[in-house]
Amino acid sequence: MSNGVTKKRVAIFGSTGSIGRQALEVIDANPGLFSVEVLTGQSNEDLLIRQALHFKPEVVVIGDEKKYPKVKDALSAHPIKVFGGEKAIEEVAAMDIYDIMLAAIVGFAGLRPTLQAIDNGKAVALANKETLVVAGDIVMQKALEKRAPIIPVDSEHSAIFQCLVGETRSRIEKIVLTASGGPFLGKKPNFLVNVKRDHALQHPNWNMGAKITIDSATLMNKGLEMIEAKWLFNLQPDQVQVIIHPQSIIHSMIQFEDGSIKAQMGLPDMKLPIQYALAFPRRIANAFPRYDFRKPGTLSFEEPDVKTFRNLTLATEALFKGGNLPCILNAANEIAVFAFLRNRIGFLDMTDLVERTMQQVPFIEHPTLDEYYESDGEARDFAASLIKL
Ligand code: NAD
Ligand code: MG
Repeated sequence: MSNGVTKKRVAIFGSTGSIGRQALEVIDANPGLFSVEVLTGQSNEDLLIRQALHFKPEVVVIGDEKKYPKVKDALSAHPIKVFGGEKAIEEVAAMDIYDIMLAAIVGFAGLRPTLQAIDNGKAVALANKETLVVAGDIVMQKALEKRAPIIPVDSEHSAIFQCLVGETRSRIEKIVLTASGGPFLGKKPNFLVNVKRDHALQHPNWNMGAKITIDSATLMNKGLEMIEAKWLFNLQPDQVQVIIHPQSIIHSMIQFEDGSIKAQMGLPDMKLPIQYALAFPRRIANAFPRYDFRKPGTLSFEEPDVKTFRNLTLATEALFKGGNLPCILNAANEIAVFAFLRNRIGFLDMTDLVERTMQQVPFIEHPTLDEYYESDGEARDFAASLIKL
């Protein structure tokens, strides 16, 4: 307690990542508002230990079991429970020791713990977009049943969420998701065919984890975000539009049925949507740099080049067709990005891999959760088999 205000107890799943680390900066700057109760990391045990020593959470989980003894040992002098392994991450999500989970694990691995938090009736600040891409219908339905609020952290979705505050009786005509275009905006296939991982890892506006940085370079990130938006805001596929806005100042927009457009703006800094999601429904003051309209500069917009960045076309197909197709797209993409990051396949091969996997794995219109898991596995196996050839 501080100043009569109960602190929000935060569980950070994926605390060693880009989002996790920035969330801890936000919490560190607001010790009267938040306490850290759970930290989980997959493999960076040294950072996880440092974070635990600083924030003194109730529970720490290291995903990679081989590293458990080191983490346990390093924290043995403190009243911190330490667990290891994938199952433990899920089990801790089911514990009643936190108010809000920051879902900041990357990829499909974030789905089970997030579902567990929802089952547990906890609020979820959702960075892990793959959770909604894979099983958005099931996740949102469960959140409704359990009255578990899902507050987006992804900057575009945070923008839409912020624009919706106070609009309880207004109908959305469409939403416009802005995309920076990534480091290869304006490039054509003859250039992209030779792109290597180090170049693709350099994003012009955002400093993020490796997977989402590659997804931003291929525009798959925006494709995933279209699907994420559909589920978060209960939209029809044709209500979701993507526009390239290289400056990343407008984070996204809503057009309401009277034609009025609301945008949320600011300098690109993930700490802002993280802070908004953790503190919701209030805003908290900070000293982040401000956007200044008086400085020379333009805000520009253009149509995405979907012929070159075909991932956007594939994701649009998955968005419209629904069923397990987004799950298949996501699984194949995770394999493709992993292979590209290890220099096993080229930049354009990533899209081919996703496309071939979408054609291969059988379509299911209304999958159960188990069928989503199965489709994910099948898609991974098939995509991986293409790389070995
Ligand atoms: P990251 O790679 O920097 O961090 C990922 C975190 O997940 C780490 O803590 C890692 O230890 C953990 N992790 C990795 N594999 C795991 C596994 N198999 N099981 C359990 N934990 C595992 O990623 P990030 O950039 O922080 O992104 C996290 C999520 O947030 C992604 O879904 C991403 O799309 C989304 N997101 C990130 C940003 C950003 O600016 N980084 C912006 C919007 C959305
Ligand atoms: Mg985003």
